[in-house]
Amino acid sequence: MADDVVTMDKIVSLAKRRGFVFPSSEIYGGLGSSYDYGHYGVLLKNNVKEQWWRAMLREREDILALDSAIIQHPRAWEASGHLAGFTDPLIDCRTCKLRFRADQIEQAQCGRKPSKHPGETDECDLTGARDFNLMFQTRIGPVQEEGSVVYLRPETAQGIFLNFKNYLQFGRKRPPFGIAQIGKSFRNEITTGNFIFRTREFEQMEMEYFVPPDDADRWFEHWLEQRVDWWTHLGLRPNHLRLRPHDSEELSHYSRATSDVEYLFPIGWSELEGIANRGNFDLTRHAEYSGQKLEYVDTATGERYVPFVIEPAAGVDRAFLAFMVDAYDEDEIEGERRTVLRLHPVLAPVKVAVLPLVRKDGQPELAKEVYLELRDHFQTEYDEGGAIGRRYRRQDEIGTPWAVTIDHQSLEDRTVTVRDRDSLAQERWAIDELAEGIERRLRAEWRSPKLDG
Ligand code: ATP
Repeated sequence: MADDVVTMDKIVSLAKRRGFVFPSSEIYGGLGSSYDYGHYGVLLKNNVKEQWWRAMLREREDILALDSAIIQHPRAWEASGHLAGFTDPLIDCRTCKLRFRADQIEQAQCGRKPSKHPGETDECDLTGARDFNLMFQTRIGPVQEEGSVVYLRPETAQGIFLNFKNYLQFGRKRPPFGIAQIGKSFRNEITTGNFIFRTREFEQMEMEYFVPPDDADRWFEHWLEQRVDWWTHLGLRPNHLRLRPHDSEELSHYSRATSDVEYLFPIGWSELEGIANRGNFDLTRHAEYSGQKLEYVDTATGERYVPFVIEPAAGVDRAFLAFMVDAYDEDEIEGERRTVLRLHPVLAPVKVAVLPLVRKDGQPELAKEVYLELRDHFQTEYDEGGAIGRRYRRQDEIGTPWAVTIDHQSLEDRTVTVRDRDSLAQERWAIDELAEGIERRLRAEWRSPKLDG
């Protein structure tokens, strides 16, 4: 299959048609770049997060979990540098009232004459560049005017630094160790768009890994490798994935080294995840602003130091989009066009569909029995409505890897056919072996069939 069948429009349309993602507040005309995740979207997103937790927590012994507050003490954002530095330079046009990011003005279109760039027509009346802070503000307290200004977090990482001391005490950990968290972050982005790629409200999966300063470079390399492996194991095609180191001008205020994991989206190569060596910037600043000691002390040797931090920070929504794009495929079965999501089975929203061939002769009853047994193990769907081919197509579109069909033979010998989404092979399995067989397939190595297409 040629890659060019995947466009953002097709993904957006499938996402809406099949209940993965809806534009938010649609009955009110929508709210710019806000989205709601529907049923299958929730299932897919949960699976992405579950795989991340698995890699961070279950498969390691050196990382602990956290779920910190979205609204933190405002001083935290002074200390982190976000209040002063988390800004985009903006230019307004007094004529067309549009707002542009100064660093993207070359690519922007004039509001009156889209064939030109802002500033190119005689009518354009541009302001100079002004810094615009990306943090959303709100107030806490019952009286609006007197309440103190607080911010919705623009990253989850700071919640981890604020808890560093708690984790040293309760976790009985010594560097190297990590704290991982998944949660919503908010940024008042100026240039949104491209579906869920850049929104103002999004979810992040971030892990701060605290290491002895001398070992930071080694751990940075370790996490680059781990994270690229994670993406490829979950099926992203390696030829659509790359690591891109930042040059010194691009580095964030806190970073000593950063590499982005980039994916080849329909909009071109774009960031999926950033992996940074944040040095001791954050802990040092929070120690300074809070007056607390934020350092590791080895009680046996008396050695003390402020650990360096290696941070892999990924976006859940961008991961979701990358997996959808990478999985999207179209082919033809018996002269009929089919849309299929070739998702890694562990990510697929529904693992198994149970389908009686006909709605009579005891087939629905046996199918229900099989369904009840399988749903104990996997996200399973029962569907008896419409021609069998149509039901297969519906499951293909949401990426269900296996469809179990109950036919007249099933009633005689308690076997069923198991249809594979990708190979379309149909095998006969005993009902009693279904759960175990599917479990085994779920655990097997998986490779995107699009690589061979
Ligand atoms: P970008 O350069 O695209 O604005 P960033 O470098 O500011 O991203 P980070 O601060 O490194 O992003 O955040 C880590 C991850 O969080 C990103 O790799 C991305 O997956 C996700 N992310 C950041 N901003 C957004 C957003 N506005 N919408 C969706 N996901 C986002």
